Amino acid sequence: MDTFKVSKTLMDHVQNPRNNGRLKNYNGHAKITGPCGDTMEMWLFCEDQKVMQAHFTTTGCGPSYASGSMATCLAEGKMIPAAAQVSQRDILEALGGLPQDSEHCALLASDTLKAACEDYRRNGETDGRDPEKRTGDGAGSRRPGESEEDFRDRCRVQARLDRIGRKIVVLSGKGGVGKSTVAVNLAVALAQSGKRVGLIDADIHGPSVPTLMGLDGKTVRFEGGELVPVLSGGIKVLSIGFFLPDPDEAVIWRGPKKMGAIKQFLTDAAWGDLDFLIVDSPPGTGDEPLSVCQLIGNVDGALIVTTPQRVSTVDVRKSVTFCRRLNVPVLGVIENMSGYVCPHCGGEASLFKVGGGERMARDMKVPFLGSIPVDPAIGESGDAGRPFVSNGSDGKTARVFRKIAQDVMGLCAETRR
Ligand code: ADP
Repeated sequence: MDTFKVSKTLMDHVQNPRNNGRLKNYNGHAKITGPCGDTMEMWLFCEDQKVMQAHFTTTGCGPSYASGSMATCLAEGKMIPAAAQVSQRDILEALGGLPQDSEHCALLASDTLKAACEDYRRNGETDGRDPEKRTGDGAGSRRPGESEEDFRDRCRVQARLDRIGRKIVVLSGKGGVGKSTVAVNLAVALAQSGKRVGLIDADIHGPSVPTLMGLDGKTVRFEGGELVPVLSGGIKVLSIGFFLPDPDEAVIWRGPKKMGAIKQFLTDAAWGDLDFLIVDSPPGTGDEPLSVCQLIGNVDGALIVTTPQRVSTVDVRKSVTFCRRLNVPVLGVIENMSGYVCPHCGGEASLFKVGGGERMARDMKVPFLGSIPVDPAIGESGDAGRPFVSNGSDGKTARVFRKIAQDVMGLCAETRR
């Protein structure tokens, strides 16, 4: 009997199939049942003849999953004619082979891919249906008065966002309360828990994420028409700061230009598959955070950062009302700069009356996620461009950040999408 040596790639694609599951927005689709009785289904989302996303499902087992997974990986990024030519041999070679009696799975995957490419060609970009009646699943149908171009834009954003598990905005009623610090440390704590994380710095007044993450001076590459986020400790980061030769320039950008850039972060960035996308929103409850939330659409949850002073906690009320108006679930309130940790003795003292954030959260019937003290180590690590939780500290402040990350994961797991 022939012995078959299983390659590492094959094992990986069996245990961790890529692109598995139905795609919400697609313009190419095929479903084929092979002679073995397994049915494979594929969905393509293409733009200008290029396969932007390919997903599959199969009723088969290991080799069928590995073949669908590899076929969709090989198709993504290719032009339709090239994707349609991905053959059984290409899939087998890329997997490092399959047992002989399972090689038909690679044929089923290549046939299904070919048929999905054909479907796209037949239907063209508009799906072949009346654009007025066309639906882009997650993006819904074309809205009254919405132009075809805007609808396509929205479908494109939706197609990218479909690959992102949870989109969380970090809000604050006003600036300087530590919103970016919370966003950055939350992103790092989630990444430390093994999650795939992206971070958008949408704070167009003062994009501080590059500084807090030690990424000042980094620029963003364009590859194949896509923005490639800057990678830091496994986190994919995009900030307006990466586009400015001088950080002060952010202030003089006009609103529409800033919003255009943030829209591009959503429409044209190569985020790939993410478990969490954290968005550091502009402060306040005005037009800018409103536009950011609307651009993201279907925000999964908001974190509201406040400080203990009365003026700030009153802002929490406004932020909660803002979220409710937009139908964004409030994951919870975080009180930052609550008490002071002495760098010498580690003891804690109160600078202001603490607990206002918690009281306000209770009043507004939203969860309270924790208090972060004023800790000189946070300021120092921010200035040094090393997010506080990445320094491996197990002190009280680090534990609070990690608990917040755990709570966010728990709350997100509970909320139905
Ligand atoms: P925002 O995004 O709300 O404008 P930032 O997160 O940029 O605020 O924080 C403003 C400054 O305060 C930064 O220098 C940051 O390092 C510092 N900071 C934030 N939270 C704390 C804290 N708990 N202890 C000490 N410094 C802090």
